[in-house]
Amino acid sequence: MDLNKKNLSCDLLIAGGGIGGLVAAVEAKENNPDLDVIIVEKQVTGYGGKANKGGGVLQYFQLDKITPMDFLKFHVNEIGGYLGDQELMLKYVEMNHELLDKMDKWGIVMPRNEEGNYFMMPTGPFTCMISVDLDLCIKMRRQAEKLGVRILDKVTVTDFAVKDGVIRGAFAYSILEEDNTFYTISASQVVIATGSQNYRVGAMWSSGRGDGIAAAYRAGAEMRNPEFGNFSQLIRTGSHGEVVFGENFMYNAKNEHVTKNFTDHRMTDISSLAIREWYVNMINGTGPIHLDYGPDKRDVRAVNQDWQRPYGQRFRECRQEFTNKFDNDLEVVPLLIGEQSCIKVDHDMQTTIKGLYAIGDASYCGSCAPGAVPAPPARNRGSGILNAVFAGVLCGRAVAAAQTTAPAAITEEETDACIEVTYAPLKREEGCNAKEVIELIQQAMCPSEYSVFMKLERMEEAEKLVKQARELSANLKAVDLHDLLACHEAEAMVLSAEMHYLASKERKESRGWFLREDYPEMDNENWLKYIIIKNVDGKMTLSTEDVPYEKWPIQPPKKA
Ligand SMILES: Cc1cc2nc3c(=O)[nH]c(=O)nc-3n(C[C@H](O)[C@H](O)[C@H](O)COP(=O)(O)OP(=O)(O)OC[C@H]3O[C@@H](n4cnc5c(N)ncnc54)[C@H](O)[C@@H]3O)c2cc1C
Repeated sequence: MDLNKKNLSCDLLIAGGGIGGLVAAVEAKENNPDLDVIIVEKQVTGYGGKANKGGGVLQYFQLDKITPMDFLKFHVNEIGGYLGDQELMLKYVEMNHELLDKMDKWGIVMPRNEEGNYFMMPTGPFTCMISVDLDLCIKMRRQAEKLGVRILDKVTVTDFAVKDGVIRGAFAYSILEEDNTFYTISASQVVIATGSQNYRVGAMWSSGRGDGIAAAYRAGAEMRNPEFGNFSQLIRTGSHGEVVFGENFMYNAKNEHVTKNFTDHRMTDISSLAIREWYVNMINGTGPIHLDYGPDKRDVRAVNQDWQRPYGQRFRECRQEFTNKFDNDLEVVPLLIGEQSCIKVDHDMQTTIKGLYAIGDASYCGSCAPGAVPAPPARNRGSGILNAVFAGVLCGRAVAAAQTTAPAAITEEETDACIEVTYAPLKREEGCNAKEVIELIQQAMCPSEYSVFMKLERMEEAEKLVKQARELSANLKAVDLHDLLACHEAEAMVLSAEMHYLASKERKESRGWFLREDYPEMDNENWLKYIIIKNVDGKMTLSTEDVPYEKWPIQPPKKA
């Protein structure tokens, strides 16, 4: 079928119609109703993305009982490992109630108690959780459409048009055979809201395929903190269901409570130390690891049964039926979730390319807000959706207020060059399929001893697999438009894995979630630094940036 070429233009183009993209669109329109906004979503806006896939819990701060500074101190010392942007974290806590009230106003269902307040559950000395019903993105889509936002579903953004460090728009293509349109979309401001990189391992995280990160990299945007993209969660071997907070109840084959080997207190959330503990027991012959909640400990999966969420309830019941069928015992193994989210942004969520913004899971670590942890949950359950809302609001306000001029035109030659590269796998007579490349990347990223409990020799082994994947990816062949998208996603996974290992080899210390067997200590002398990766004329370059901790309230401990 012939390719249809279509030119569109708008003031603000948003790539990705998950919670972050929808919030940015709505906030931008509320602040500047004259803006012409288009959302381009490769799945279906309202149903795509992750916010509707499971938890729906949101971090809640009791700001009548704690101050934002209390939480910041705790976070910097216990979670963020002195790498977090303290200004941004303070702002996130300060805006907590404002963000929740906005979601409520936009029609998202927030369970309430008998007094009419948000129904909340304390989760630690500084945080509580509240929840939202899982149709939140459908509610946000309605809100966006009411405000006149245009939405293109089943269309994927493939590359950004940038000239002299300034955005001019993006290229996108329909993944529907009957449509087969290639779009050239001119816009003076573009937001990347395409989520993180999850390497297609965990089924529920499958939508995080890093294509926005890859497109930003190709366009020359800087990446920051790519080595913090290796989140793993304990899952049950039967159902593969994740066990949130299960790290507190880990027992080995000798029935020893091995959680005690890495912490003497209940942790806010899983750390890489739990994954290391699993690995050490397995290689020492004291595995497998199982969970034992004890007689009066409630499995946390039961906890949010208390929330009244009519839409989410059906989803929970289906899951429960499934887990009841398969979970005969409580043996657990780590599952790589991934969550690389490394597009570098400033406090307006603007990348290093003028007019190009990145929000939510695309830039969580790149914003430095969470510090030395992959994101989300960044050892803070409920910070994923809320960070996307936070970033969407900051970005929406910034784009609404920006003084822009019409972008420089995207030429016919540029469009044709992009078409040539984009559709190359469809034209190839022979080649490998996307699955072969993806499997190699999964082999390189999934073993905990490669990507979580790291060591130089093991990372070099993993890199050999990534190199093979890179070589294969030069010859990808697609059979249809969906397969073409899978080819592009496979290329993005190769890039993410390359960035992960390049940066992880460079960071010669352990900090937060980042754990190296050969450099087990936190090194504040040499490593209060961010690793920056950038595409310079097709070559992946690495540099470092000092963490500007001197200007922030909480200082790292001085060397004894
Ligand atoms: C199982 C599960 C449970 C979770 N539970 C919680 C929880 O309880 N609390 C919490 O706070 N967080 C939770 N999270 C995390 C939270 O859902 C995410 O942090 C949040 O949804 C991120 O929003 P986002 O808009 O940045 O990205 P996403 O939700 O990933 O949305 C990105 C969107 O971009 C689209 N897209 C991607 N690439 C392209 C492209 N090239 N062109 C066009 N569109 C594209 C995708 O299809 C998707 O719709 C959970 C996540 C999962 C998977």
